[in-house]
Amino acid sequence: MSADDPAGRNSAVPGRPGWPARVGLRAPTGALLYAVLALLPLALAVPLQDRPVMDEVATSLGLVAFAVALLEFALSGRFRRVSGRIGVDRTLRVHRVVAYTMVGLIALHPFLYTDSDVDRRFATAPWFTGTEPSLGLAPLPLWTGVAAWMLVAALVITAIDRTLLSCRYEVWRRLHAGGAGLATALVAVHVFTAGGYSGDLPMAGYWAALLAGAGGSLVYGYLLQPWRQAGHPYAVTRVDRVGAESWEVRLRPQDGRGLAFRPGQFAWVKLSGAFAGAEHPFSISTPPEDAPEIGFVIKEKGDFTNAIGRVEPGTPAYLDGPHGHFVPDEVPVPTVYVAAGTGIGPVLGHLRAFRAAGDRRAITLIYAAETPEALVCRQELADLAGTLNLTCHFVVHAAPAGWTGHVGRIDRDLLDACLPASNRKAHRAFVCGPPAMMASLARALRRLGVPRGRIVTGS
Ligand SMILES: Cc1cc2nc3c(=O)[nH]c(=O)nc-3n(C[C@H](O)[C@H](O)[C@H](O)COP(=O)(O)OP(=O)(O)OC[C@H]3O[C@@H](n4cnc5c(N)ncnc54)[C@H](O)[C@@H]3O)c2cc1C
Repeated sequence: MSADDPAGRNSAVPGRPGWPARVGLRAPTGALLYAVLALLPLALAVPLQDRPVMDEVATSLGLVAFAVALLEFALSGRFRRVSGRIGVDRTLRVHRVVAYTMVGLIALHPFLYTDSDVDRRFATAPWFTGTEPSLGLAPLPLWTGVAAWMLVAALVITAIDRTLLSCRYEVWRRLHAGGAGLATALVAVHVFTAGGYSGDLPMAGYWAALLAGAGGSLVYGYLLQPWRQAGHPYAVTRVDRVGAESWEVRLRPQDGRGLAFRPGQFAWVKLSGAFAGAEHPFSISTPPEDAPEIGFVIKEKGDFTNAIGRVEPGTPAYLDGPHGHFVPDEVPVPTVYVAAGTGIGPVLGHLRAFRAAGDRRAITLIYAAETPEALVCRQELADLAGTLNLTCHFVVHAAPAGWTGHVGRIDRDLLDACLPASNRKAHRAFVCGPPAMMASLARALRRLGVPRGRIVTGS
């Protein structure tokens, strides 16, 4: 294994001419754009109606909640222009936090109206004999609002705890997307039939644009994308065991037109037909130089991945990608990788690209698995250490007699021992593995001197 070269001297740039351009909003631009779009209805609602302030507050919460609900479709992690730089993990984290906030807004919305006492609200329930409309609403806006209110709560609760639905992940995803579409339609009816503001032309135009975007994202994801994939099928070329319970699957496009990607990105993979439901995200483990062939390291974890070792060469496959921001710097900088389990997949993609380009940047790899047998491509990594300017540190939880690597889990002390002592500020760090591990080790890296902005987590 080679010595560290913290200055990153004598380094080539890996395969840059063949890499596609980076697309996507930068985080500050994305945050600003989001805030403007989410709060725009408040500006469009001015001048306010002549009624109690609390009624205006209640309406404002409802308007912002609807805007936020429509913007959730853009935060699904499937749009490169949104999450290409921000990262899919971070985009989905924002999606979740926004969903909780939205539920808070929606929960308060009907109760802040000055005539919102519970008895009156239920005075129009089908089982109630009176005829007085609740909150001054006719049955259509009232009951679409109530139905949407309950559906959104159900969507968020079943996203927090998927086991409540006792169904497969893929089924949950479809229900979640379908439920979100239905809730949006209900809220749209509620807003247009109940709202005092949404009939105004600017506000109506704003809702129409966001609704078109939300509907378009569903059409794109469930019809257009699969249709494009069906016209561009791949075929499995080989499936190799690369570690205990881990396989590397290689695919080749049947028309020879490979995917243009940067090392370490990921793609959604389907093996059951372009329009069939089950698609799974996997990081690309091969370098762009292997194109049009493309590979993925896949660990057995559930119904789809457990069967991966039995997939026959020739099986058709469909890809949506590339996605993700887990890509190496074009300018060679000293780099540290911290990987656990399948987190090694995108790291392999980087290292293989460095090998193809003759890149000599200084690299430290700290890679953990349960046992030595579970370390994926261990021999290849050791060989890469002989070719690249790479130092490998293998960590296993259960060590057999004669094991010379580290034993236990990766923690701050181990990172401190493995990282080059000097120039940590100049390092780029990549952390990939289970979410809890990524959060705690990114924190540890920051404490050890790697700046927050130079740490990339997830895919
Ligand atoms: C961006 C990204 C990159 C990934 N890269 C790799 C990789 O390189 N190698 C690898 O082995 N695994 C990778 N995974 C995890 C992989 O997608 C899941 O292990 C796989 O989809 C499990 O499917 P299953 O049907 O076998 O298991 P299941 O029993 O259905 O699922 C096990 C768990 O995996 C997750 N999962 C399942 N299906 C999906 C899905 N369609 N999308 C997102 N998460 C899902 C859920 O948390 C679920 O609880 C990656 C995940 C993400 C989000």
